[in-house]
Amino acid sequence: MKQKNKECKGLKIRSFNTFMILISCVLYVCLLMATVYASRNYEQLTTTADNYIHLEDAARNITKASDYLTEQVRLYAETLDPKHARLYFEEANHTRRREHALEIMQQHPGDHFREESLELAVQHSNALMIREIYAMKLVATAEGHTGEALPAEVERVQLNASDLALSREEMLNKARAMLFDAEYQEMKNTIYGHLDYFTEGILRATESRLVGGLNGLSRSIYTQRLLMSILIILNVITFLVITLLVVKPLKVFLQCVQERTLFTPTGAYEFRYLARVYNEISVRSDSLAASEAFLRKKAERDALTGILNRYMFHEVRKLLVESTAPLALVLIDVDKFKEINDTYGHAGGDQVLIRVAQTLKDSLRGRDYVFRIGGDEFAAILPDVTAEQTDTIQNKLRHINEILQQPTETAAGVSLSIGIALSPRGYHGKLYEQADKALYWVKEHGRNGCALYREEMDQASAE
Ligand code: GH3
Ligand code: MG
Repeated sequence: MKQKNKECKGLKIRSFNTFMILISCVLYVCLLMATVYASRNYEQLTTTADNYIHLEDAARNITKASDYLTEQVRLYAETLDPKHARLYFEEANHTRRREHALEIMQQHPGDHFREESLELAVQHSNALMIREIYAMKLVATAEGHTGEALPAEVERVQLNASDLALSREEMLNKARAMLFDAEYQEMKNTIYGHLDYFTEGILRATESRLVGGLNGLSRSIYTQRLLMSILIILNVITFLVITLLVVKPLKVFLQCVQERTLFTPTGAYEFRYLARVYNEISVRSDSLAASEAFLRKKAERDALTGILNRYMFHEVRKLLVESTAPLALVLIDVDKFKEINDTYGHAGGDQVLIRVAQTLKDSLRGRDYVFRIGGDEFAAILPDVTAEQTDTIQNKLRHINEILQQPTETAAGVSLSIGIALSPRGYHGKLYEQADKALYWVKEHGRNGCALYREEMDQASAE
């Protein structure tokens, strides 16, 4: 078997399968990792974009709140309507957009790009508020706004002694100057500068983060594509290998088994090995069958004449006991065969026996059974022969006798004594005896003849 293993070539499906499982596992793990990496990159991109939107929004809200305070304080100074002072403090104390913007910035840890600048912007805005509230106090004092009309923060402010001494117009002029002069604008510009610096910072940081995230994302997508392509190629290879090395040879193998032909080793190693073993078994079983057939033939046939032997005579009779059809039993004995042996020798006698067997076989029907049951004794069983056909049978047997009396180059001429017994329904125990009595009767009455059993032959044989 080991020798056979060495002789067999071809790809081992088991090894191929193990290799494919291992390589697929590795590739799937890599694919999983690339997918996780890609989703992380994607999350980073969305977080970065989200942070940018929130922080940019926060910076814009500080600008809007600061501008709104400026607008309301200036409107108060211009229109002298205390409503604007109230709106100013509504924004400063309740809406608090600047403070909310700082909270939003703190809610995005890791994104504190130049966060100081945002805080500085708010601090400067608060510093500006002191100037604005002072200006509001000047307006309120000039206009005599007190009590409920004026926010408490303004009421609490103490004017300088010099400002208190100013006239109404002068107070209003000073207040307007404080809100529109270059110093005020410069303070506003400082706030804008800090906000611009912050916005620019988050823009740059977001940009570099987006570029990094996008590069990582495209790298992992490329890796995913590569791994998927390799997996597809491996799949195609697997299909091809299975089709060519397993499915196709299996089809051929099945056909060979059905047609009982030998299988040309093909396909995977396992199939080649299977083919060799199958072919060997097939050849062995064929030769076994041939030897069995030979032995069976030997057991059934007479070695000298080739016709059925005495054993088969018993077997066929056993089978015909069950039959319901009519039949004839014929017993045949060569006359004075000892003399043939004496004259022509044993070999010459054998030639006569062969000729007798052959002539019986040739002259009787194909479905008649012809046996050699002893030295010079033969028997024939003729199925489906009825009493009406006895003349025909007898004539046929007489004709055989005539043929055999003519000597040939190899065999001397001989005559036969033939006894026939009929049965209307299968074979029965007395049939042999009856045919034997008929044969004995022929022997008694000069040999070289053929007789059908009759009851009076019982007495003759008894005598
Ligand atoms: P009968 O007419 O009364 O039958 O006389 P017979 O001489 O034929 O006597 P019998 O049938 O008893 O003789 C059979 C002889 O056949 C005896 C034996 O020597 C011979 N014999 C038996 N088997 C063989 C054989 O295989 N070959 C040859 N040549 N002779 C055989
Ligand atoms: Mg004889």
